[in-house]
Order: sequence, then structure tokens, then C-alpha cells
Amino acid sequence: MSTSAFIVPIDPKAPSTAIPNVDIAKTWATVPRGEKVDVGTTSIFYDTPATKITAASSLGDNFSAKKGEVKRELVRKSVGSAVKALKVLNGLKEVTVDASADPHAAVLPAVAAHLALYDFSLKTNPPSPFNPNLKKPIPPKLEFKPIESSKEWDRGVAYAYSQNLARTLMELPANMMTPTAFCERAKAEFAGIENVEIFVRDEDWAASKGMNTFLSVTHGTNEPAKFLEIHYKGASQKDAQPIAFVGKGITFDSGGISLKPGEGMKLMRGDMGGAATVVSATLAIAKLKLPVNLVTVTPLTENLPGPSATKPGDIVYAMNGKSVEVDNTDAEGRLVLSDAIYYASTEYKPHTLIDVATLTGAIVIALGEIFTGVYSTSDELWEKLHTAGEQEFDRFWRMPLSEDYGPQIYSSNADLCNTGGRPGGSCTAALFLKAFAHGIEAEDGSNAETAMKWAHLDIAGTMDATRPTPYQEKGMTGRPVRALIEYVRGLAS
Ligand SMILES: [Zn+2]
Repeated sequence: MSTSAFIVPIDPKAPSTAIPNVDIAKTWATVPRGEKVDVGTTSIFYDTPATKITAASSLGDNFSAKKGEVKRELVRKSVGSAVKALKVLNGLKEVTVDASADPHAAVLPAVAAHLALYDFSLKTNPPSPFNPNLKKPIPPKLEFKPIESSKEWDRGVAYAYSQNLARTLMELPANMMTPTAFCERAKAEFAGIENVEIFVRDEDWAASKGMNTFLSVTHGTNEPAKFLEIHYKGASQKDAQPIAFVGKGITFDSGGISLKPGEGMKLMRGDMGGAATVVSATLAIAKLKLPVNLVTVTPLTENLPGPSATKPGDIVYAMNGKSVEVDNTDAEGRLVLSDAIYYASTEYKPHTLIDVATLTGAIVIALGEIFTGVYSTSDELWEKLHTAGEQEFDRFWRMPLSEDYGPQIYSSNADLCNTGGRPGGSCTAALFLKAFAHGIEAEDGSNAETAMKWAHLDIAGTMDATRPTPYQEKGMTGRPVRALIEYVRGLAS
């Protein structure tokens, strides 16, 4: 059995001739099949001349007639299917991917191959590369390389590495992925990368800043909370106005005193998906040296019903002075985010602030696991996010951010209530956060020129995939890491 193989994404109508000494076109034509060749239909040829094994995977019927974004996704699916077919073969070590053939850029096969190879397991046999107790990382089962090296391929590797990192951070159980462990892992991932500074703040620091809504969530657990900041200065002017990312980092969400039902609660190890995705996207942005300044902040804590836990009806004063009635301790995401958003928007005065959060069950009902819900004060920011999401097939859907939902979150005893009832539950959560985004455009548009653009991404639906796709297995998805990187790359170019 050979230890090396080729992957060829193949247009059934115009087969690639990129592989030297292998007449794939001729061989492919001999494969019996029906009239249609669905994307991802993979044939493995043994004893092909240039290498022993070649996986030819269809790009689907009428590939060449499809438009750009659709083609991009077909390339990912085709390569992902080939990787799935190859990764079960024993002894295979190295896979050369045909990433050179027009019209697809090398970034797509690189992304798809590395995402499709991803496998999360904490079983001891075989040892997992993610086992935090192992001193040395386990090398991946397959090494991928392109026929010709290129910047696009390397970019694809960085995108996929970051998305896989976010998947791992989200999959790791809460006893391993505590706020402290999250910060340690972030520091290790960023070690040696230029223009990056990392600050790990503690609860005393948060108290000194008046972050009482954040701290109200930390009271029910003995696990120390952390407030992680990652500063990346890649712009030519080091004092240029930054972008800010804010990510919800609940490393386990039991619901607190408003305890969740037991069934499915273990998924709440992934309630730090906002933090995982913004930190992972920041890693790729810094690795790729994108010419922007970026500040990423993530409030990290568990939400547990310990004896000092916040109780329904408690009222706390947020960092911006607003009083918040905690009607339901399971609506804790907006509590940790409110202080984090206010802090990032006042301390760093970013031109754009994007927060990402596994925030509401309501967005799961509205959009399922296909689209991430986006709420934004800026049409321009929405358009850019939308474009980036389509490019990466990591898609967004714009949701209404309207003050008309306000009465649902006004409290009779405080400025705001942290629940707004079931109707429009994702919309009311977004409106709650808006009260803490400092410097956004006023209702009368008077500060339109200088206003901070803000978008809130509710990823509670897209955090987890229940149906596998050719390059994304079931489980935590690490979305929208690629869309965030692509958005920043679009800004930079
Ligand atoms: Zn919750």
C-alpha cells in the first residue's frame, strides 16, 4: 500500500490534466455511472502511474456554468469528499491536492482538506492530538500539500487551522476548557506571532472597572472568571482606529438558578463559541499579517447555581451605569456581553465592533443551523459581512434591530430586564446589547460620519452541526471563523 496519494477535483465535462503522467481524463471516462455525477462522487484509482493512489472527485454536473460563489462551494465539497474517502485508508501519510487548475483558487482545496480531516476524540487509543495531558502534539493523520505552493494555499491552511481550533475549544468539555485553560491555550497559540499583545484580566480588575453585569454571572461558580484581551497591531499606523471583536465566553452554561433541563445540557460546553471563534479568527488575521489593528475581548466564566449565585429578580448596575433586572439567570450571555461591549467601545473607540455569541434559543428556531443571524446598525457593515459569508459559504442572514421591540425588555424596577419573553427572543436580546454599544449612530443620524458600526452575530443555531457535509462532520462547527477572517481581509484590501 502506497503512503502517498493525489486528490483531483474533477469537472466531469472537462477533466483536469494538471497531474503529470496520470491520464485521469481517460480513466475517469471509464468509470460506470448514471447520467448525473453528483458533486463529491469519488472514485479511487489504485496503481495510477505518478503515484499509487488517486482520488478523483466530481465537481458536479455543469460545474463550469455555475456562478462564482456556487463554484467555490462545489470545489470545497469535492475535495472534502475525496479526503473522507482517503482518510480511512491505512498507511496513507501524504496527499498532494490538485489546487492549481483553473478556475478555483488554491485557498478552497486547502480549507476543505483540512476541515474534512478534522476529527475530535479524547479516547486514549488512538491518542488524540487534542488531549491536553499529552506533552507532544500528535501529527495529523494526513499531510496535505498542493502541486505548486502558493500564498492562496497557505491562506487556506490558516483559515482552516483557525476554524479547527475553534471547533476544538468548543468541543473540549468544561472540566478541561475552563476560563483559565482558555486563556492559556490562547497564549500558546499566539506565541511568537508578531504585533500581538495578550492581557489576561481577573475578577478584581473587572470589579475595578465596574463590570457588575459580567461579575453577576460569576457568583455561582468557584472557577475563577477571566477577561481576555488580544491586541493585534498590523496597520502601518500603530495608532490607527481598530476593529473590535467581542466574544461570549461561557465555558459552561447550566442556566444558573434558572437551571436548564438536563437533556442536551452537555452541549453548553460550547457556550463559549463566541469567544472561541473571535479568538481563532484573530489568530489567522495576525498570522496572515493583515494590515489592520484589531482588539479582541472575551469575558470568560461558568454560569452555575452555586450558593452565591445571582437570583432571579436581582438588580445589578452595568459598567455604563444602567440598571439591569436579572429576570432569568439563563439569559447570562447578554449580561457578560453588555459590559464587554461597553468596555471595548469606550476604551478602544473602534470604527467597527462585532460581537459573536451563542446567545438565544430563538435564533435556532428562526434560522436553524444554516444561517447565522446578524443584527447591525450599519447597512455597509452588513453588506461586507454578507459578502464575506457568501464567499466562505459561512452564511449570514440579517435580522431586525428595531426599537419597537423595546417595551419587551423594559423593566418596571430597572432600566432594562434581561429577558423579553419568547416572541422575537433573538431580536430582544440584540436590542438589549445595543444599549451598551457606545458611539453607534444616533436615531437622527447626526453622528453618522463618526459613529461606530456595530453588528451582533447570534450563532446559537450555527454553533453545532447535526448533519455532516462533505467537509464538515457533525459536532461543533467553529463558525463563523472563516467569514470573520474574510471580512477583515476584505477591509484590508
Ligand atoms: Zn444561558
